[in-house]
Amino acid sequence: MSETSIQINKELNIVPFVSVDHMMKIIGRLGLENMLKGIADYVEDDFKRWELFDKTPRVAAHSDEGVIELMPTSDGDHYGFKYVNGHPKNMKEGLQTVTAFGVLSKVYTGYPILFSEMTILTALRTASTSVVAAKYLARKNSRTMALIGNGAQSEFQALAFKTMLGIDQLRLYDIDPVATEKFIGNMQGYGFEIVKCTSASEAASGADIITTVTADKQNATILTDDMVGAGVHINAVGGDCPGKTELEKELVLRASLFVEYPPQTRIEGELQQLDADYPVNEMWQVIRGELAGRKSATEVTLFDSVGFATEDFSALRYIRDQLDRPGMSGMYENLDMIADPDDPRDLYGMVRRSGAMSQVAA
Ligand code: NAD
Repeated sequence: MSETSIQINKELNIVPFVSVDHMMKIIGRLGLENMLKGIADYVEDDFKRWELFDKTPRVAAHSDEGVIELMPTSDGDHYGFKYVNGHPKNMKEGLQTVTAFGVLSKVYTGYPILFSEMTILTALRTASTSVVAAKYLARKNSRTMALIGNGAQSEFQALAFKTMLGIDQLRLYDIDPVATEKFIGNMQGYGFEIVKCTSASEAASGADIITTVTADKQNATILTDDMVGAGVHINAVGGDCPGKTELEKELVLRASLFVEYPPQTRIEGELQQLDADYPVNEMWQVIRGELAGRKSATEVTLFDSVGFATEDFSALRYIRDQLDRPGMSGMYENLDMIADPDDPRDLYGMVRRSGAMSQVAA
């Protein structure tokens, strides 16, 4: 966190708030590709500081329709959490599958220093995290990515892989052709070579990297073992909740498995299909150079992404630091969020003096 990061709210009761509209203005000001790179740097830095973080699997409230989750963490200086849902059925009702907002606070005072929308920010941080993993796990000469699931997350994934890894050939598949057409329309002018496929198997054929980012609240089998050739890196993003997976078990067993935080991935990831003590590799160790990533050109690597709280913390930290840059004053508003009585013990007196008590209807 930059030294200047508490300058905006010198008055500690004022909290900068980044709305959806502000987030779009921030993207317009900074550029989406720059933000994906910037967030990837913060995600990577925070993986390197892994032991400093309070870590817990996210707190999930499940229903038949979906899940609502809280994702808290702290590095000792700052505390952050995200509220996020995952409701695959929402799409059919014209609603988002995933929506989110988040908070960053100072541990020293416990006062919040940022409120932010995180529906858009989650798409950015998920794509940035996918690329951080792929940097260590995909073959260096990778050019072609299969993108299976062309919904809300998909364009962000594609742009992050292009910007940071030079992936410019895409093989698209979605059970809903409208989603694929939406993707193609949105990605015009970015210089992708795009092949539309009629099955996941066709999309996977010849791909160096396969990203699965589908939404279905079931143990789906989007990718089977026979669809994946030697040397492929799989970026499995969609399976992120108990009872919701995308890969055939044989494929998960064949691949070298890389995860964010094992206690959470064992509950939520493709890993939920395997024994509770199945050995995995942790990304933070790979990023710190303590563990090998890809070991050969023929190995199949699997990033079993579920999304961990430190990645949201990194994204919030990135946004908070950007607000201190020159020219960012219109990119947030100040919220009067924290009661601030002259005498901290006289909260009641502050309410009384405001005249609120005398306004009660007789
Ligand atoms: P979305 O609903 O916008 O898009 C999902 C797409 O998958 C839809 O276009 C749908 O038609 C397609 N699809 C469903 N079943 C399919 C199948 N069998 N084959 C091919 N396509 C299929 O959802 P989204 O916001 O893009 O999120 C996608 C998934 O990613 C969700 O499950 C979400 O929970 C997950 N997610 C994970 C992370 C993470 O950090 N790992 C972060 C965000 C979202």
